[in-house]
Amino acid sequence: MQYQWYPGHMTKAKRQMQEDIKLVDLVIELVDARIPLSSHNPDIDVLGQNKSRLVLLNKADLADEAKNEAWCEYYKKQGIYAVRLDARNRAGMKQVQDVIQEACKEKLEKNRRRGILNRPVRAMVAGIPNVGKSTFINSFAGKACAKTGNKPGVTKGKQWIRLNKNVELLDTPGILWPKFEDQRIGLHLAYIGSIKDELLDRDEVAVSLIGELTQTYPGLLAKRYNLTEEAEPVKVLEKLAESRGCLKKGGELDCGKAAVLLSDDFRSGKLGRITIELPPV
Ligand code: GDP
Repeated sequence: MQYQWYPGHMTKAKRQMQEDIKLVDLVIELVDARIPLSSHNPDIDVLGQNKSRLVLLNKADLADEAKNEAWCEYYKKQGIYAVRLDARNRAGMKQVQDVIQEACKEKLEKNRRRGILNRPVRAMVAGIPNVGKSTFINSFAGKACAKTGNKPGVTKGKQWIRLNKNVELLDTPGILWPKFEDQRIGLHLAYIGSIKDELLDRDEVAVSLIGELTQTYPGLLAKRYNLTEEAEPVKVLEKLAESRGCLKKGGELDCGKAAVLLSDDFRSGKLGRITIELPPV
């Protein structure tokens, strides 16, 4: 799925999120495990102050397993709970349940000390578009979970999904918008298909992706596409067009076509499990 940004949507989504976050104890943020930095909006660090935090490194099935591990360690050091996940797969949900309980332990304990025994902790899911928020809510909540809402004391219209006697989840996710603080963020979002392809020069995106892949996964492209090792990314794209027979009508090389081929292969995992961004050191 691809999307475009409209200022009206952004303002409305942010306002909604500011309201919703007041209602919860725990914020579950989804990021794309291939680009955890670019798919994170730093606004959530401010909005989520004083809340427990859980980061789900989603689409971990498409990311490099060793790097998933490194990211989990990184979050742990920041005092943020983290779980790597394939949101389409219900098998991973048990672990998420356990970590939610762990993340909310203090809150539950505090309630207990105050004699509040029947109040579940409340959580919300947040993240930029396309990271898998809806997929996660569906897999996590499943059909068996009762929806609650419109009961006294609950803001009218809010739907809460009761996960167990201790935890409720807001059924609508908070939408954050990517922050384009530098051009790299835009490029990285383009690699994973989170920016309308028409908005950027696909050749440029492909050349940039080739540059990063050659640095972090040397030899990968040469092996996958049977190319001779080539240092210059533009040349790699040309070689790819050549070897795949991407030609324009006049017989001239069609690098645009090769760019589409490369990005499709990257997005679908055909290039292997790849993580573009490493945790800051
Ligand atoms: P949302 O905009 O954040 O709600 O994202 P969606 O839930 O609509 O998911 C966007 C796309 O990513 C869909 O095509 C999902 O099937 C896919 N998707 C979601 N989670 C995963 C995952 O963990 N792994 C993979 N490979 N695809 C996923």
